[in-house]
Amino acid sequence: MSGTVAPLPPGAAIGILGGGQLGRMTALAAASLGYRCHVYAPEDDSPGMQVAAARTVAPYEDVAALRRFAAAVDVVTFEFENVPADTLATLGGLVPCRPGPRALSICQDRLREKAFLAEAGVPVAPWRAVRDRAELDAAVAAIGLPAVLKTSRLGYDGRGQAVLRDPADLDAAWERLSPRPLILEAFVPFVLEVSAIAARGVDGTTVTYDVVENRHRHHILDTSFAPARVPEAVARRAREHAARVVEELELVGVAAVELFLLPDGRLLGNEIAPRPHNSGHWTMNACGISQFEQHARAVAGLPVGDAARHADAVMRNLIGAEGMSACAGLLHARDVHLHLYGKSAARPGRKMGHANLLLPLGSLRDAAEDPLLARLGRLQEGPVSPAPQ
Ligand code: AMP
Repeated sequence: MSGTVAPLPPGAAIGILGGGQLGRMTALAAASLGYRCHVYAPEDDSPGMQVAAARTVAPYEDVAALRRFAAAVDVVTFEFENVPADTLATLGGLVPCRPGPRALSICQDRLREKAFLAEAGVPVAPWRAVRDRAELDAAVAAIGLPAVLKTSRLGYDGRGQAVLRDPADLDAAWERLSPRPLILEAFVPFVLEVSAIAARGVDGTTVTYDVVENRHRHHILDTSFAPARVPEAVARRAREHAARVVEELELVGVAAVELFLLPDGRLLGNEIAPRPHNSGHWTMNACGISQFEQHARAVAGLPVGDAARHADAVMRNLIGAEGMSACAGLLHARDVHLHLYGKSAARPGRKMGHANLLLPLGSLRDAAEDPLLARLGRLQEGPVSPAPQ
């Protein structure tokens, strides 16, 4: 891509498809750079809408509303990858879309995503496409058990997947999972889940953040530790993978690559999120330029900036009522930065906000975990599950 794309001037409008917290935090960062954000989402009063300069409440399939939206903005981005491909196709003919339709279509289909990762030089677990029941038997014969059967589209936070441990599990999983086709992946006996975030500007310049280590609870991200406590060579490779992915996707904006770390030090790619990611929220307080500012910069045609970290960090998601109950204490905590998303109903499993605990640079590796989590108001004990049940 050429370096001749002029940056948007202050006051220009960035259109954001999706009204969630990722769009909200992108809009806040874009506002700091002098831009106005216009949020387009089907739901009114969403976290993104609350901080937007302009709003469109309409379905993603409403072509007339999309045309009006395109006419009102200078560039379009999205904050979740399940935007219908037709929506971006409609907008793409009218206004620059960053990232573009190719990156979106690869990342919203696990089959294309896995093939793409392998082509980009990121190793992945053995996998097979499963279009009918006979193909499931053939895929299990080829890959073996245990294995993970997933929908190829529209899955998130562990939804739309089943672990197959025994041949007797196949029928129920096949009946339950939709939409099809499905993908069967070998079960990865990982020791850690890590993610790497890269930002790429319109001029092709790419920067990467430090790799983080992620813990999940009930399949939802619970805590990220920055930097990941992994050997230097592993961290470097993860960053290289993330850079390679955004370069090969020719993505303009931010993307996260989720990786499994194996006991022997190998990394296997799991998923790409072509947008700011929950595992990058720590950058809001531990870096000079957050993932949201990088995304806004890239989308607006400004240069991406330094992704260096000035502190170690632990990010805890505040989920449901339990997460919100920690807030009062966090407001008084030293070195804890609270971010709430403006959601009124604290339903179980709902991400209400997050808290970033900052630590002196280099101190996380040798720190005991429990006191850190206690400083983030961790109230409930219980299993933090690294793998699907
Ligand atoms: P995903 O929706 O692909 O991000 O998967 C959700 C979670 O399921 C991941 O964060 C892992 O903990 C687990 N998982 C996904 N795929 C596999 C796999 N092939 N082997 C083992 N665990 C997996």
